[in-house]
Formats: sequence, C-alpha cells, structure tokens
Amino acid sequence: MYRVNEIFYSLQGEGYYTGTPAVFLRFSGCNRRCEFCDTDFAAYTEMDADAIVAAVSAWPARHLVVTGGEPTLQLDDVLVRALKGAGFYIQVETNGSMPVPTGVDWVTCSPKQAPWAVDRIDELKVVYEGQDVEALADLLPAPRLFLQPCSGLNTAEVAAYILAHPRWRLSLQTHKLIDIR
Ligand code: SF4
Repeated sequence: MYRVNEIFYSLQGEGYYTGTPAVFLRFSGCNRRCEFCDTDFAAYTEMDADAIVAAVSAWPARHLVVTGGEPTLQLDDVLVRALKGAGFYIQVETNGSMPVPTGVDWVTCSPKQAPWAVDRIDELKVVYEGQDVEALADLLPAPRLFLQPCSGLNTAEVAAYILAHPRWRLSLQTHKLIDIR
C-alpha cells in the first residue's frame, strides 16, 4: 500500500515543463524537516498500485508529476511499471536525498538539505536565497539549471543573478501567478 496525500489535475507551474497539463500524485511523508516547507503532506489515504493508476487515469493528460513530501520514499518499481503500462510519462520532483527508480522519465531535483543520494537529474531547480548555487550545481550536475525566486519576493535579484550567470534559467511559480493549483 502507498500513502497518498492527494491526486489532482492542473498545469505544471514550474521548471522545464511549465504549462504542461499534468496529473499530480502527491505522496505523504518526507525525510527532511525544512523550516520553510509550505506543503501539507501529512494526511494520507492508503491505495494500492491499481487504485492509483485508476485514479490518475481519470483525466486526459498522460504527464504525471509525482511529488510529496518526498516521493522516492514510496515510488517503487511496481508502481512505475503500472503507471508506464497505463501510458504515463513520469516526472518525479525529489529533494535529492534518495535514488530514483528505473523507468522514471524525468527527474526534477529541488535540493533542500544534504546529504544527497539522487543518482540522476534532468533539471535542477533551486529556490534562490543568496546561497552558493554554483557549488550546488557542481555537486548535483544536471543538463538544465533553473533558479526560482523565493515566494516571489526576490524576483529582481534572481533575474540579475541569471543575467550574470547565463547557464541558469528563470523558473516562476506560474500556477500562483494565474491563481490555479
Ligand atoms: S524536502 Fe520539501 S517537502 Fe520535505 S520538508 Fe523540505 S520543503 Fe517540505
């Protein structure tokens, strides 16, 4: 059984797939305790793989964003196979603390706290708070680097940083800008 916090349909708001219609599968639980965490992932319903596949198949899109909490605490080969069998493209949003199951199509790493154990990254997405993001990008190599303002408060600072460090791209929380989930 998997502990599922919520399943909903929306547009991916952030990073490389911004604007993509996607089903969101949020798992309950996390292995970090970030002070700034704004995700309520404590509540859960227990579901097996068949029930999850049935639930996420209720919408027309076949892009699935698996998030949390920390999704790699629960996402396993059994569920990945079931989701792939139903035709889903699987994007995982991880804090970088765990390896990612084989078969996942896209790994978005939003690193929070060391140590890191993620074994592959397609995009690194960092909330910028003035930290040394170059060192982070060297520690967690990724072909695409996104920098995101902190709750929209330092957008000008992030834009200036990217202009001076052009290997980064801007990521905004566009779902909040247009007031959707
Ligand atoms: S890693 Fe993410 S989900 Fe987990 S506590 Fe930190 S911000 Fe929240």
